[in-house]
Amino acid sequence: MIYPHMLRNCWLEVDLDSIKNNYNEIRKHVKQKSKIMAVVKANAYGLGIVQCSKILEECKTDMLGVGSLKDGIKLRKNNVKLPILIFASNGVEDVANIYAENDLIPTILTCEQAKAMSDIASDTAHAIYLKIETGRGRLGINAEEMIDFVKKVKELPNVSIDGIYSHMADVNWSDISGEYSSWQYERFSKFIEELKDNNIEIPFLQLANSGGLIAYPNFQLSGVAPGSALWGYSALEPREESPHLKNVLVSWKSRLIQVKEVIGGKFGENYAAIKLNKPKRIGVLVGGLSDGIDHRQGVGGEVIIRGKKLPIASSIAIEHSIVDLTDCPEATIGDEVVILGKQGTEEITLNDLCKRWDRTPLEFLTSLNLDLDRVYFKDNAIYSIGTAEELKYL
Ligand SMILES: *Cc1c(COP(=O)(O)O)cnc(C)c1O
Repeated sequence: MIYPHMLRNCWLEVDLDSIKNNYNEIRKHVKQKSKIMAVVKANAYGLGIVQCSKILEECKTDMLGVGSLKDGIKLRKNNVKLPILIFASNGVEDVANIYAENDLIPTILTCEQAKAMSDIASDTAHAIYLKIETGRGRLGINAEEMIDFVKKVKELPNVSIDGIYSHMADVNWSDISGEYSSWQYERFSKFIEELKDNNIEIPFLQLANSGGLIAYPNFQLSGVAPGSALWGYSALEPREESPHLKNVLVSWKSRLIQVKEVIGGKFGENYAAIKLNKPKRIGVLVGGLSDGIDHRQGVGGEVIIRGKKLPIASSIAIEHSIVDLTDCPEATIGDEVVILGKQGTEEITLNDLCKRWDRTPLEFLTSLNLDLDRVYFKDNAIYSIGTAEELKYL
């Protein structure tokens, strides 16, 4: 298929209906009274933050969690109206006005940051979220010190603590990681008791991520924050009680932009920019290291052309790869190349690529170049084409 607006022939195909399916599956697992913060950090785990956020808005998610102020601004420019929490990614004080102008919620880690937000707010208090550290060993105020921090922040006139959130460490099923996860939950719960003792009400309290909300339903407080499950991936081994998730990334495709016979002699040897493994006929496809294709693809990697799996013929270049067409003499310029996905009866799965490239699905997704076109499908038809910077509807 030839897509309009596609300026470079290397693209990802993303199924928006699967996001809806996954959101609804997660919703079924979440208590009615818990709010869902859909996590779209890292360009919606590589799938394209603008389009994915718009679909989650259609799904009626309660709010979005994004990784940077830049992404928050991008969503506002694209008319996303949901409440947006920005995970800790700057000093807040120097950019307080930008949070205010774009109606974005900062993550607050110090009193100075809270004061900066209070100072910038005019008529109404600005919403802020605090991060509580319960065991991930990373960001946040230690749970045991949190109540004092909350009391100090509450003295400021123009901020409203609308949420306090944490993050789970390496979560797994309760019979595997129960002790550690329960310790995290206990630390958070003790703090919640202290809030009650002090008559402080915070609307959104959240610990559970994708794995947490599935494996520990009792950890669902007034909020949950699924990320990877929205895109079809769960760190948990599937069990009977798992939600029925579908892969949102369907394929990664390219085209042959040149097909030719290799002339013998020095071409295949040291003088070639990229050393070839003795094919006679080669094809050059768009897509290389800078797109997120791992260098290990050049060692036994395959792509599908004309329904056949064909070997990669050399190491991977920055923007191109070379395929050995010896067994597919009918291949010609313009042919579609499947790097990931199905063509005819052949398929290369995400697991196949993860094994070859030695990475997890999340490492795979988040290493995809932001600039690759994402082609979005909705109701089995092409709906839009976009990058993180630009989205076009068809
Ligand atoms: C990434 C992230 C999540 C989502 O985690 P998943 O395991 O992908 O569901 C939740 N909360 C915070 C703070 C995060 O940074």
